[in-house]
Amino acid sequence: MKITKTLLPLLLITISGVLAQMQAEAQQPAQPQKPAHPQSQRPAPPQDDKMHTFVTTLMSKMTLDEKLGQLNLPGAGDITTGQAGSSDIAKKIEEGKVGGLFNIKSVARIREVQRIAVEKSRLKIPLIFGMDVIHGYETVFPIPLGLSCSWDMQAIENSARVAATEASADGICWTFSPMVDIARDPRWGRIAEGNGEDPYLGSQIGKAMVKGYQENFSTNSDIMACVKHFALYGAAEAGRDYNTTDMSYVRMFNEYLPPYKAALDAGAGSIMASFNDINGIPATANKWLQTDVLRKQWGFKGLDVTDYTGINEMTAHGLGDLQTVSALALKAGIDMDMVGEGFLTTLKKSLQEGKVTQAQIDQACRRVLEAKYKLGLFNDPYRYCDAKRAATEIFTDANRNTARKIAADCFVLLKNQGNVLPLKKGTTIALVGPLADNKENMTGTWSVAANFSKSISLLQGLKDVAGEGTKIIYTQGSNLDADSLFEIRAGMFGKPLNRDHRPAETLIAEAVNTASQADVIVAALGESAEMSGESSSRTDIEIPQAQKDLLKALLKTGKPVVLVLFTGRPLAIKWENDQVPAILDVWFGGTEAGHAIADVLFGDVNPSGKLSTTWPQNVGQVPVYYNHMNTGRPLEGPWFQKFRSNYLDVSNDPVYPFGYGLSYTHFTYSDLTLSSTSLKGDQNLTATITVTNDGAAAGKETVQLYIRDLVGSITRPVKELKGFQKIMLKAGESRKITFTITPEDLKFYNNDLKYDWESGDFVIMVGPNSRDVSSVKIKWTK
Ligand code: BGC
Repeated sequence: MKITKTLLPLLLITISGVLAQMQAEAQQPAQPQKPAHPQSQRPAPPQDDKMHTFVTTLMSKMTLDEKLGQLNLPGAGDITTGQAGSSDIAKKIEEGKVGGLFNIKSVARIREVQRIAVEKSRLKIPLIFGMDVIHGYETVFPIPLGLSCSWDMQAIENSARVAATEASADGICWTFSPMVDIARDPRWGRIAEGNGEDPYLGSQIGKAMVKGYQENFSTNSDIMACVKHFALYGAAEAGRDYNTTDMSYVRMFNEYLPPYKAALDAGAGSIMASFNDINGIPATANKWLQTDVLRKQWGFKGLDVTDYTGINEMTAHGLGDLQTVSALALKAGIDMDMVGEGFLTTLKKSLQEGKVTQAQIDQACRRVLEAKYKLGLFNDPYRYCDAKRAATEIFTDANRNTARKIAADCFVLLKNQGNVLPLKKGTTIALVGPLADNKENMTGTWSVAANFSKSISLLQGLKDVAGEGTKIIYTQGSNLDADSLFEIRAGMFGKPLNRDHRPAETLIAEAVNTASQADVIVAALGESAEMSGESSSRTDIEIPQAQKDLLKALLKTGKPVVLVLFTGRPLAIKWENDQVPAILDVWFGGTEAGHAIADVLFGDVNPSGKLSTTWPQNVGQVPVYYNHMNTGRPLEGPWFQKFRSNYLDVSNDPVYPFGYGLSYTHFTYSDLTLSSTSLKGDQNLTATITVTNDGAAAGKETVQLYIRDLVGSITRPVKELKGFQKIMLKAGESRKITFTITPEDLKFYNNDLKYDWESGDFVIMVGPNSRDVSSVKIKWTK
């Protein structure tokens, strides 16, 4: 088989899945029973009856083997255009052993494969085609963690819409997105793929993305969303990918599960089980999770798919051989088996031996067929195979322009001492750093469909935006990391790092020489695209030392330095924050990264991103997040205090708090006024604050509302985000911003997992970030 760089990671995972099958058998432990909370009352869509009849009729004609075939979701393997018919997969499709394929690209290839299914298989059931369209298709948007910092739900929805339009124009009808795993540990590389640490913000984003992808399946540019990874994948111990998770039900329901539920309530058609275990049972075999919570409590009726070899890996988890774990997954409520073929190869035997029932197989098969029905594939299997659309709707100027605008709104200005930024046009700028002229790394993690070489590098972007009269002089200055082997690990999948083999001192001297000719230095440093994402956890979350050495030398020149920070995670940059006058966090901005960064650096766009995660002082503080509990011995007053909850060596403060981000203008908050400070029952409370742009430029500001429940039957966070509004104010403009708060905003899951609010005292807080808030105390009784 031809192993492309894109396929290599998938292959590695497959191999680990096969190894997993060789592990010993084990018993599934019993799951503790927890009281259910009320069932979701999601109304059935009108097409349900017709769909039910259609699927029932179809299933009455299907053999057991054909039903099991529908549950099988292999990767695309070695399919190339013009030869799909002779591929291994073609034979299986003809035999009715494949329900869908994923990560196959191009309308021509997909049409060819679909033709095999609908012309050569006995029942002519169309295939469903999935892909990891995570933050754009060919037009790549910022990584999700970056997108979340826009706090702009319309923009995020638009990014998903563009992604859906492009993907569907190229044959894809199902995306494995949104990824809504809450993550509080920046060591975990996949923090890049999610929306940060907050359940409220994460829920809003999950909803916006589902809306952007799916609309209501009324056109052939609507694709099916897949909410992932269900559940708690972001809580991997020590931030090590695929590691164990373990947490209380209270934390699960209040802090980790809300974004999955919100995305499903928004109508997401499918969900993906996570790799990790929960209470000792891998999510893929966790009936409590996949049936009791997902189906019975939340009322989800869509398709539940495993992650890549998720079933096979349960052998390595210690739950038994492939037959055993496949049966466990089916019984837990899983419908479709990604890659591992455990369902395809063992469920027949399990049925014969009475280990699974026909009804369980039928249920799963029905859900796969229903997904295809909702996508309109039975009406027209080629609904998503319009070559004209492929030629005109992908990577268009309009889409790239949208990506450029959204990217600029995701960047977070972390520091701007002495207004080093914006840069002045018509000056000489020294651009330095391993990420300055590297278009391949601009798209970040999970950009399967992208053509990396078409992205705009920072060097290119600066040149394009600065225009004539501005001199940009470039030197690499350092490698990404001193260790060439680390660089190989951090650039494995086709995103080169252009290693310079000369001694580090020579590279630095060259950069210092370049810098000496300039008015200002722009240092493009941080992580490569593949230092975050799947299987890219780090124990050291600082900028690699080789780059720090370069930065130190640049600072020594005495010239103003702007650090343009590329990263897929919150980094520990306390030293940089102390020493560097200006820092702009640009994540991985996607296809148009270079232009969008230049737009912000030159002040054509005023930065407005706000962090969706807390940035720690050092890795030892992790996990550090704004919505923590107070503890019985909180640090009140100055650090350090003996016998209080704090450290000997660093304070509890992060370098940047959740919600933080600066602008080229300045906003002042004044006069927080509440409609009442004593409320009863189902009243509404309004909180109004005046926000004034008292700087010289127009700018966008995200006004944030937090609430603290001071007394509860369980410990409650010191603050929780409950609302936000992103507004645009002209220079000198003031606006009153009002939030309406209802008892719904006070609800939480108590120790019996009952979702309700409790009478008592609350603090209402409004501000520009989670730290600098104005607050008023209120009483609210039932
Ligand atoms: C990842 C998923 C992804 C799947 C298919 C897995 O390794 O965990 O997020 O959707 O591969 O590519």
